[in-house]
Amino acid sequence: MAAQKSLQSVAREGSKLKCPDCGSEDVGFSDHQHFCKKCGLVFD
Ligand SMILES: [Zn+2]
Repeated sequence: MAAQKSLQSVAREGSKLKCPDCGSEDVGFSDHQHFCKKCGLVFD
């Protein structure tokens, strides 16, 4: 169980997010949500 949890946090830190709409990697994080700095799309 603990291993699963640490795996998850590693994946979260290591993966580069991409906007599903415009494909931009310029993604910010605010209020527990990710948002695209380019087009403004908010996603998880
Ligand atoms: Zn976008």
